[in-house]
Amino acid sequence: MAVREVVTLPHPVLRQRARPVTDFGPELQQLVDDMWETMHAAHGMGLAANQVGIPARVIVVEVPMPESDDEEPPPHAGERFTLVNPRISWHTRETVTGVEGCLSLPGLAGEVERYKEIRIEAQDRRGKRFTKRFTGWIARIFQHEIDHVSGVVYTDHIDDPEKVWSVTPGEEEREEAKAAILA
Ligand code: ZN
Repeated sequence: MAVREVVTLPHPVLRQRARPVTDFGPELQQLVDDMWETMHAAHGMGLAANQVGIPARVIVVEVPMPESDDEEPPPHAGERFTLVNPRISWHTRETVTGVEGCLSLPGLAGEVERYKEIRIEAQDRRGKRFTKRFTGWIARIFQHEIDHVSGVVYTDHIDDPEKVWSVTPGEEEREEAKAAILA
């Protein structure tokens, strides 16, 4: 396994619609392993293959367990999801607003509206198909990552410039940055 470089805007691969995966051989397995290592090294909660420079429809998502034992772990905390060829096959009409950050847009955070609940159809890393419903934070992360493999970044959803702000690590903005999901 290896930590790969996370590309940032304006790298063109982040604007590329990724190709579907058809070969579940060693090259994909290596990519998935590297994506996990890269995401953990970057302290992210989600990563799309585009973000390591590979335009393939592969995402990994893991909501970390809370740092303190007193906090209630969010749904699916600690569970590792590797999704190949994911698509949102259903969603609620209802949306929720939350703060997001992105490893490919360092130093920024913004308020994004996302579907409250979604159903995803995808394949696992061996090609097995599955369908799963997600709600809350993790549903937001999946929407953020599925956007990435379509060449979309979260700021594309924000039309009000007041709803994107810079988060320089340090000072009072640290807490705000921590509250943002980094994906
Ligand atoms: Zn991102």
